[in-house]
This record gives sequence, C-alpha cells and structure tokens, in this order.
Amino acid sequence: SEEVIELKNLKKYFTISKGISTKKIYVKAIDDVNLKINKGEIIGLVGESGSGKTTLARVLLNLTKPTGGSVVFNGVNLTKATRNEMKKLRTEVAVVFQDPASNLNPRDTVMNSIMRPLILHGMPKKTARQKAIDSLELVKMDVRYLNSYPHQLSGGQLQRIAIARALVLNPKVMILDEPTSALDISVQAQILNLLLDLQESFGLTYLVITHDLNVIRYISDRVAVMYLGKIVEFGPTEEVINNPKHPYTEGLMAASPIMDPHDRDKEKYIMQGDPGSLINLPSGCHFHPRCPYASEHCKEESPQIIVLPDGHQVDCHKYAAVKNI
Ligand code: SF4
Repeated sequence: SEEVIELKNLKKYFTISKGISTKKIYVKAIDDVNLKINKGEIIGLVGESGSGKTTLARVLLNLTKPTGGSVVFNGVNLTKATRNEMKKLRTEVAVVFQDPASNLNPRDTVMNSIMRPLILHGMPKKTARQKAIDSLELVKMDVRYLNSYPHQLSGGQLQRIAIARALVLNPKVMILDEPTSALDISVQAQILNLLLDLQESFGLTYLVITHDLNVIRYISDRVAVMYLGKIVEFGPTEEVINNPKHPYTEGLMAASPIMDPHDRDKEKYIMQGDPGSLINLPSGCHFHPRCPYASEHCKEESPQIIVLPDGHQVDCHKYAAVKNI
C-alpha cells in the first residue's frame, strides 16, 4: 500500500532553562521515531501527557522543525520542501484540536470561520461560500447554523464546525488531537462515527492523538504507543490492546477501564513509580524505573525496535531473543 507519511529517525530536541538557574536542560521530546502511515489508514498515537505526542503533531504540522531525521509526506521531504511544495502541503494536512475554542475565532460566524482558509488560498468569495455550505452538510449540520457564533453552539456542534473547516481544503491527511476529550460521553461516539464516515467517503488518512484507549479501540486500524519520546510499541489495534507486548503497554491496558469485564478477577498489574519526565530521562530503557521486568541490562542499554513475526513492533530487551524467528 501507498505510504502517505514516513517518519525517519525523527528527533526533536530542545533546551530549556529551569527556574532562576542558567543551567540549560536538554529535552528529547522525540527521540529517534520511525513510523510509516499508509494511505487511508487510521493510526492511533497513544501516550500520557509528556510522552512527546503533541510535539510529534507539531512537527507534522510544520509548526516546529525537527532537530534530526525527516518527515516525508507523499514523497516530499518536509525539511527540504520548496516554497511551492510547502504551500501545497499546507492544504493537504489539516488539524482538529481538542478544544474547539482553539479551532474557532469567537468573533467569527460559522460561515466566516469555514471560509477563511479558502479565502486565504485565493478562492473567490462566492465559491468559498458555496464550499462552506457544502462542508457543513458533510458534517451533518443544518445550514441555518452558518450565521451562528461559537458561543451559541454546543461542544459537539463546535467540533463538527472545526471538522468542516478542516475539510474545506480537501486535505489528504487529518491530524486529530484528542478530538473528543472535551466532549460529553454521549456526544463522543457521534463525533467518532462522523469521522469514520468522512474517512471512508474521502479515503482520508488520520493520525489520532489521544490518551483515551476507548477512542483508539473504536477508531484506529493500528496504534503506536509513545513513552518518553519513543514509540515503544506499534501494531494492529486489536493486537496491541488484547495482546500487548511492551511492559508499558501492558500497564496502560491493565490500568484502563476498557479491560474485559470477564477478566475482572485477573490480577492487575498496576504501573509503579511516577510517570517519568522528558526532563530527567532515565538511563538505558526509559521505562526501567517502572518496569516489573527490568534487569541490570535494561538500566544500562536502550533497547532497539524489534519486529516480531506478526509485524508487531516492540522496543524492549525482553524480545531480543525472539528476533528473526
Ligand atoms: Fe522493561 Fe527492560 Fe523491556 Fe525496558 S527493556 S520495558 S526495562 S524489560
């Protein structure tokens, strides 16, 4: 299948100064991430806050430059793209954020919010107006809302508008950053169903960033699990959820409410230790302070990604022995 996004040895390091001291602290927010996303796929990216997943989204949106490696989008290397290629890419990747307030200007009507990206790309007003009407229909909202202001709409409606706006430029890829976290449970499924419908109608590719495993299970084909700047596990969603390989993923699943109700009696492995921080990265495998399987070797040496026979990828020494079976 055709690759639409490829991250190759992607790195985003930066320095911050802490408190009043002038000492600079080195942060490795993305540390050597490799990921290939196929056209029409829905990829979930799961991780706790501070795992680097938001930085990854910012790099993909070209809001921040990587410090190493590359992002290849439809064959074009983002770090080397010409101005024209960049302009085209901006129309091809759209984003929907968690908080509708950061998607929409409170002083703009729905019509103006949706039209803005089109006008900015030089579309005549009349055509833009029609496109805005069409895209409102796509997100199954009545056109009478075109003259509404954000404060007059519910959270679910606002998220539909944000999606309509993301769609107007006919993107190929949508980055959905916690698309349902700010919504009531009852509305979440509606928005996820809408996203699934749109994905199917337009053959879109989604990268869904979330800490919510229910969202991942509901929507994504494959899931990447991120921990302290690295992708520690990547594989088909059901595989990763039902048969997690990395000890961190195992802990995530055990601590999550989507646990199989029949498994209630199973002794749960609850993750020990604090969630870790990008600012004070543990040596060797970053997960070792919390890992029940950690050995001395884990403290000293970082593991390498291992591709298991079923295609599932895992970044843990435990699997070194099964490599190449
Ligand atoms: Fe645990 Fe070692 Fe695997 Fe890290 S490499 S997850 S510490 S077993």
